[in-house]
Amino acid sequence: MPDRRASRLPDTADIDPQEFQRKLLYAIHRGASMADIADIKPETVQSPAQAIEALIDGNTRFFDGTSKRSELGANERRAQIIGQTPFAAVLACSDSRVPVELVFDQGFGDLFVVRVAGNVVGESGLGTLEYAIRHLNIHLIMVLGHEGCGAVSAALCPEEEIILHPPALQALIRRIQPSVQNLPPIRDKKARMREAVINNVRHQATVLRAQEVIRGAEDSGQIQVIGGFYEIGSGAVDFFIDEEDLKE
Ligand SMILES: [Zn+2]
Repeated sequence: MPDRRASRLPDTADIDPQEFQRKLLYAIHRGASMADIADIKPETVQSPAQAIEALIDGNTRFFDGTSKRSELGANERRAQIIGQTPFAAVLACSDSRVPVELVFDQGFGDLFVVRVAGNVVGESGLGTLEYAIRHLNIHLIMVLGHEGCGAVSAALCPEEEIILHPPALQALIRRIQPSVQNLPPIRDKKARMREAVINNVRHQATVLRAQEVIRGAEDSGQIQVIGGFYEIGSGAVDFFIDEEDLKE
């Protein structure tokens, strides 16, 4: 089992920015490979626990209004042509109110993001996450649902309404349906929607974990699969990290 305890990130204050820039430029001039660049990058996230902490810290800055909004200098932009070393992948909804990098206050090259309505697992999205595991050495996969998700609302509609949608959209809704079929009776509409969205996050995380590459990467400790619920009104993300939180 991967270590679920969050540990402190290494202190980045001792990385000399000028030395870093010099090394990057030198690497570019000699035609460095992606692996070489990964070695040079001042890597602060090297485990699932550190990846979780980086997302928690970033979201805290976001809802506090203290985002760093990382921009790149000219040399850093040039270095990025050579390759990418994101520390986490996020499977999020396409909803325009959930811009993933902003919500976690992450910059260029930090997150590998799949966005599809209802943050459902489909073949292309799964292949994208497999690529991130095998070729980008990510440390985390987060399934991120959100308040007021239209795709989850659609899955709660009666069958006679669902069959009116075009075929591909129906197929997408069908991927959400299993997670909302046995919702407990909750009167409050907002609370009921929140429960449906979180159940869908749990369901998609379970679907991901049933896949060989993802299960293997989790078993080896390379990654951890976690869930999240983004509250549009406040900007805060609730994290579902423990097994118990993700249980369907
Ligand atoms: Zn949505």
